Amino acid sequence: MAPFTYRCTDCGIRYARDEVRYLCPVCGRRYRPGIPLVGVLEAQFDYAAIGSAFDSSRPDWDLFCAVEPEFRPPLQVGGTPLVPAPRWAAELGLDRLWIKNDGLNPSGSLKDRASFLVVAEAIRIGEKRIVAASTGNAASALAAVCASSDREALIFVPEKAPRAKLLQMVLYGAKVVPVKGTYDDAFRLSLDYTAERGGLNRNTAYHPLTIEGKKTAGLEIWAQLGFQVPDAIFISAGDGVILAGIHKAFVDLQRAGLIATLPRLMCVQAETSDAIHNFIQTGTYSDARNPTTRADSISVTCPSNAHWARRSVLETGGRSITVSDGEILEAQATMARLSGVFGEPAAAAAAAGLVKFQAGPEALPREAMVVILATGHGLKDIDAPLSRIQIPAAIEPMLGNVQE
Ligand SMILES: [Zn+2]
Repeated sequence: MAPFTYRCTDCGIRYARDEVRYLCPVCGRRYRPGIPLVGVLEAQFDYAAIGSAFDSSRPDWDLFCAVEPEFRPPLQVGGTPLVPAPRWAAELGLDRLWIKNDGLNPSGSLKDRASFLVVAEAIRIGEKRIVAASTGNAASALAAVCASSDREALIFVPEKAPRAKLLQMVLYGAKVVPVKGTYDDAFRLSLDYTAERGGLNRNTAYHPLTIEGKKTAGLEIWAQLGFQVPDAIFISAGDGVILAGIHKAFVDLQRAGLIATLPRLMCVQAETSDAIHNFIQTGTYSDARNPTTRADSISVTCPSNAHWARRSVLETGGRSITVSDGEILEAQATMARLSGVFGEPAAAAAAAGLVKFQAGPEALPREAMVVILATGHGLKDIDAPLSRIQIPAAIEPMLGNVQE
């Protein structure tokens, strides 16, 4: 592990690793639930040390990791496939398209990466209980990692989370508290809980290591492309923390002198859950008015990491795109049919963003290297696609009844 300090993304003050836990103590005073987080901390490593020690023929990923190996949970997280999608690429006017299939993590989503690192941190500091608010995936991820590590997961989740995700949390042995209201209500309640009653809060971006955990997906994309930087990565955004995590991966690589340029980060949001998109387009933040999208994982009124997400897009020459639920479900079906990757609606939102972008005036050129980050497995929410497809009726088992 390379040494690191925390630096506040708002005021720039640096803190030693164990001097702070969540937000910058100075800027965090301006934070109140209901606005995007202020004073989000960024882990900054000894990049000169990483640059001189990293050898791509024998990559040592521990150099980029903020928790020592001896504290890490036994569950195997990450290392998901980067799937080439030549059939779909051809339809989109591209020669080189990949899907990073993070639905193949143990609990079925990219959130395992963040939960893994926060649980490792809990083990390091001797904290037994880890608390989170989640739209579903982060909670099932936390429940799974805690199950592997003798830690207790306490989860506040909107009561309308998809049943498969609620089932996962309970089955993994978490204490689950369904909350009447939205994800934003659950988020606030979880902050109140850890402030008053203790435990380590895993809320996304509130605990800085959630961003570090999600970063590993970006590092893997780089390595899996033969240590090349893709031209563009399409990423769906709810809270904006995955976007920030992928940004952090490539910023770390650049600071270490291992890459020269950053990939364009393309933020994709649902039309009804578009606070980050509007922030990028106008420069002025306002909450999403009525986040009712079927892509439950990205259904957020007030994105916790809106500031960093916006910076990720602007700094990389990326774009932000919104897509309708119809476009999301269409892209979900197309991705499954033409690539073999079945992503949940939030994962398909990123794909829908690419489809829309390629039909527009700024379409990426044929030779561009393009990655879709598929953040969760399609089996997590089968009700959404079931509303659009027909399963054929059963026949009597006689060959004459099988129509060509
Ligand atoms: Zn600060």
